[in-house]
Amino acid sequence: MSNTTLPSIQAQWVREFLGGPIPSESETVCQPCVLLSAAHGRDGTWNIHPRTKCCSYHPDLFNFQVGNVLNETERGMAQARAVMEERVNALFMATPLLLKKPPVYRLLYDRATYMGCSLRLCCPYYVEDSAGGRCGIWDHRNATCATWFCKHTRGQVGFTFWREAMEPLLKSLERALAFWCLTQLRLPEENLKRTMEAADCGIPAKFASSLLEETGDPAAHFALWGPWVGREAEFYCECGRRVSALSPWDVLAIGGPEAALYLRLARKAYRALCSTRLPRTVCPGRFEVHPLADGRVQVVGYSCYDPIAVPAVIIELLSYFEGRTVNEALRAMRRMTGIDMEPKLIRKLLDFGILVEAKRPGLFARRIGTRGRNPKIAQTRRVRLKAEALLHLPGMVPPEPRPAWNEEDQRTKAIPRADPRRVRRCRR
Ligand code: SF4
Repeated sequence: MSNTTLPSIQAQWVREFLGGPIPSESETVCQPCVLLSAAHGRDGTWNIHPRTKCCSYHPDLFNFQVGNVLNETERGMAQARAVMEERVNALFMATPLLLKKPPVYRLLYDRATYMGCSLRLCCPYYVEDSAGGRCGIWDHRNATCATWFCKHTRGQVGFTFWREAMEPLLKSLERALAFWCLTQLRLPEENLKRTMEAADCGIPAKFASSLLEETGDPAAHFALWGPWVGREAEFYCECGRRVSALSPWDVLAIGGPEAALYLRLARKAYRALCSTRLPRTVCPGRFEVHPLADGRVQVVGYSCYDPIAVPAVIIELLSYFEGRTVNEALRAMRRMTGIDMEPKLIRKLLDFGILVEAKRPGLFARRIGTRGRNPKIAQTRRVRLKAEALLHLPGMVPPEPRPAWNEEDQRTKAIPRADPRRVRRCRR
């Protein structure tokens, strides 16, 4: 579950690093969950369970993040904090570096088909309430949760900013800070060695009964914590306090060269997110088109969770952009069809991958539409298509049982059918 607000500590860093506010992701609505109102996926496999929503994910939380939750006194977090305290005291999840997800959960998550497919995978920090459920550690969620949005106001541009730029930057900072905490709170070398070994261990090849029963192993726990056994929560709380006292620039310095490089990428993605400039030349992108009952078409571009509905005529008009600059295409479109597209609409088509920037006009398509008015879409009076013509849909509507929206259009035929594995790209 996500919203436009970053956790306060990350928001403070990011405001300094980017030098400005981040545009809001207002299409992602958690209460009520916008995905729950979606029609079923075409094969019924990626529906969202109403009692988990998108929180079918168990975050690993770093030492300072656990400490920040435990230091929190807000009453709304009491339930999730109690769950966390229980987990801190369990002998198989807490290490000085992070509070891990149980290995059995990790195994199930890795093998699960789709996000939200089972209550069994619900996040332990998710709180069911009368308003429809919420994150119990909202202001301390990790980079994965904070940068996940089911829909993006700017489509692919927003996805690139959050998932391909901000998520790796914040993850890199979180990890560096957690190791920095280990340097600050002295652990004996033998415990440190075990902690470092446990940091990157994956799913065990064999599951000991203590892992299956989730009872833990006191000897292994002692090897990790040494003198801090019984005071794990105190250790985490101190990590939280020390990280909270750092300035954003201290945090970046601790992040080192890796964070500095991710920040360069994040700044580039931020500039793109704040810009509405139109490229000089564009051409149709790759997307799926399915007819809707109301005469519009559903277009699925960068994400199965964020399809949009557009008037069918817009897809017909895309061929005018092939082999021309944007200005030439608009002039030809006006001359041949009487239809005017406003620049904001072209920007939206670019955002959702229906159009993509072309480095140079194509070689073969200049002939399209030059032989006179297109009788299929020519208007008797001037029509202006506005950006509002594009609407976000809650989810994918199953297509009619017929092959393609426009059987005559070779380009549409070449568009691949939905590949359910693409949904995985959007999982946390
Ligand atoms: S930490 Fe919060 S946002 Fe993340 S999966 Fe759990 S409940 Fe959802």
